Amino acid sequence: MQQRVTILGATGSIGVSTLDVIARHPQLFSVYALTCHQQIETLIQQALVHQPQYLVVSDPNYYARCQQLAAEAKLSAEVLCGADALNMVASAPEVDTVMAAIVGAAGLLPTLAAAKAGKKILLANKEALVMSGKLFIQQVQQNNATLLPIDSEHNAIFQCLPTSFEYANLANAGIDKILLTGSGGPFLNCPLTELAHKTPEQACAHPNWDMGRKISVDSATMMNKGLELIEACWLFGLKPDDIEVVIHPQSVIHSMVQYNDGSVLAQMGNPDMRTPIAHALSYPQRIDSGVQRLDFKALSDFSFTAPDVNRFPNLALAMEAVKAGQYASTALNAANEVAVAAFLQGTLSFTGIAELNSNIMQKMPSVELDSVDDIIAYDQQIRQQAMLALRGAA
Ligand code: NDP
Ligand code: MG
Repeated sequence: MQQRVTILGATGSIGVSTLDVIARHPQLFSVYALTCHQQIETLIQQALVHQPQYLVVSDPNYYARCQQLAAEAKLSAEVLCGADALNMVASAPEVDTVMAAIVGAAGLLPTLAAAKAGKKILLANKEALVMSGKLFIQQVQQNNATLLPIDSEHNAIFQCLPTSFEYANLANAGIDKILLTGSGGPFLNCPLTELAHKTPEQACAHPNWDMGRKISVDSATMMNKGLELIEACWLFGLKPDDIEVVIHPQSVIHSMVQYNDGSVLAQMGNPDMRTPIAHALSYPQRIDSGVQRLDFKALSDFSFTAPDVNRFPNLALAMEAVKAGQYASTALNAANEVAVAAFLQGTLSFTGIAELNSNIMQKMPSVELDSVDDIIAYDQQIRQQAMLALRGAA
């Protein structure tokens, strides 16, 4: 049986890697729907290769042009637009698997729609889980959805856990702790005094991974590791103290699980997202991902250090947020999205990102977020505060 796949965020880095793996296995996968925000030319090219039934453009300004391009290309796919269309292609009865690869909070609602419809969800969009953790996991559990991690660290942890692992039950599985590895990004060793002057191009030049701009900046500030810490807590039912962040600049080990008999299981591989994507697409089988095999003889160095929170204050903020509760994770994620967008536009310095995040965390109101509507309203409220703070600082 072929798996029918919807790819939310098909034109991004994860979306493109997913289509690369799918194209290697036409007998196993077919594409039901592809979505993008603005990159409609890329979307049309992808549709010509994969012949989906639906294309969704989330930015309405690009809808008419996309319809025109689809007609010129003689595509049979129906072109849709807007939030309802995203939810529809994530939850349609014809769909087996949804790759959640929209960047940021915009991915929350369609990913939740997939959870409510009991789909197999391949989760790349960590921000959705950070902003709605408990509610999202509840929807997955209540609707018998399957949640498989795409983030390389979480996919590695998943691979190193026993298959019998029960949610939130480390002691039963004989686990001491989870070792969440991170490369430290492009500024791991640069003098602290230079950080304030780093440009978007420098921040996006990750030494090991080729990724979208938002996550690349998050990797440079290590907010990415902070978001991943929160993501790991929700995905596996961990407490923040169950997790130790370890800097491993080579990005060959993608994370580890330490057991109480002294064993440490690590998942390794070249830093290429097609490995976790292929793993999750075919789970519990294994398929070729197209990734070059690891050659141990060519690895010259293999090092591990503790992260320096003076260099990476966002990491400490994320730890604080996950301990404070859902509202704090939602606020930190919203503030960070505003800060990173401002940095990429050249209106905020690199060090200003953590400053804005910290400023918002000092002011954020402590509230209970019991529903998606609560979460979205709170996310919007924090974004407005962050924008006001930015204007005040300018
Ligand atoms: P990209 O920026 O490369 O791609 C983002 C995708 O989301 C694009 O298809 C984009 O469309 C679409 N998109 C952007 N804004 C919106 C919006 N407002 N509404 C709907 N769709 C939108 O990001 P990545 O592929 O790098 O990352 C995607 C997610 O995966 C992120 O959450 C990231 O944290 C996570 N992730 C990524 C990894 C990587 O290696 N890249 C590794 C681990 C996790 P368009 O192209 O038209 O703008
Ligand atoms: Mg990651």
